[in-house]
Amino acid sequence: MNLHEYQAKQLFKHYRIPIPAGAVAATTDAAADACIQLGGSRWVVKAQIHAGGRGKAGGVVLADSMTEVVDTAQRLLDSRLITHQSGAEGLPVTQLLIEQPTAIASECYLSLLVNRAAEQFLFMASSAGGMDIEAVAATTPEQILLVPVHSAVGVQPYQVRRIGFGLGLNDVQMKQLALLMHRLYQLATECDASLVEINPLVINEAGDLIALDAKLTLDDNALYRHPDLELLRDSSQEDEREAVARAHELNYISLHGNIGCMVNGAGLAMATMDLVKLHGGAPANFLDVGGGATAARVTEAFKLILSDSKVTAVLVNIFGGIVRCDLIAEGIMQAVREVAVQVPIVVRLEGTNAALGLQMLAESGLALITASSLSDAANRVVAAAQRNNTTEAAA
Ligand code: GDP
Ligand code: MN
Repeated sequence: MNLHEYQAKQLFKHYRIPIPAGAVAATTDAAADACIQLGGSRWVVKAQIHAGGRGKAGGVVLADSMTEVVDTAQRLLDSRLITHQSGAEGLPVTQLLIEQPTAIASECYLSLLVNRAAEQFLFMASSAGGMDIEAVAATTPEQILLVPVHSAVGVQPYQVRRIGFGLGLNDVQMKQLALLMHRLYQLATECDASLVEINPLVINEAGDLIALDAKLTLDDNALYRHPDLELLRDSSQEDEREAVARAHELNYISLHGNIGCMVNGAGLAMATMDLVKLHGGAPANFLDVGGGATAARVTEAFKLILSDSKVTAVLVNIFGGIVRCDLIAEGIMQAVREVAVQVPIVVRLEGTNAALGLQMLAESGLALITASSLSDAANRVVAAAQRNNTTEAAA
């Protein structure tokens, strides 16, 4: 789960990581109030969306007057901001962060993330801050410092020095960096964050380190330990179908292809996507209906898959282990009747009561394509999707 910049900065404040003074506004009036509350004569207006690249997209504006703040708020609020990270449709802007401007001497990059392969936290730092760190990593990887942290000992002084020297800091800044790195590490471990990113971490004109931007990703699997943080979820920033899936306890991830997949078990879902690919197709989603799939959940899963307009064929691949295939067949039939399915559906059932399930589907009078094996199913669904594409093009 991702947090907004202003939410991450509230956590930074709690952990005494230096940030600019700021206030959140959801209306133009509140934006004007924020200016008065913050004081001064210039402000930074920052659109709050779950994507970076806002600066280049007009979502971060240095305003020289309150009128400009209000005009900017007027333009940004209730719009969708498209950045290189937001996807083509952009993300809705419902809140702004108004900040006192920082006079920047230089911009660096600092993040702390979980390195899954090494099972450790890893600091990443670069003096090439402010810009797209992926581009820095791709073109000049030597400009990125990597410092792993061992969980048994935490952040060590030599690690602070390595990063501090890499960033060209002086003695005073080195002390600030030590505190910053310890506090970031404490925040990440206590909140179960998988990523805390400060880009840019700036040195202001007084020579002090300040977190000008903040990105924070929480580990979904640990959210149950943080009910207070879970309240910070902003569903408007998330894939709509993924939010619906979560409400029905379905494990759904939106992808870019056109073959909808409904599978029970995450491993089988991965294998199914692989086979679809192998046979020349592209999955529209990952969907694990779970071990305890019921007719009702299968119906919900179908609705979810079919709400994606990219889907031109559906592959149902169910292994009846705990769940019985006849129950699944019932769910499929119910769903197809309820949802008025317009696309071809290929079904492969295996395991407990598979024969009964297939017989029920065959006798249902519904236009379902049954398959005898996983490869056969993948072949059939790819062919069906292609046929459906051609008919749509012809129509
Ligand atoms: P992002 O583009 O979504 O990553 O948004 P950021 O918060 O990183 O802001 C983008 C850029 O705007 C930063 O790299 C800075 O160069 C600039 N910026 C943001 N806040 C300030 C500020 O207070 N003062 C100045 N001078 N520039 C700022
Ligand atoms: Mn940034």
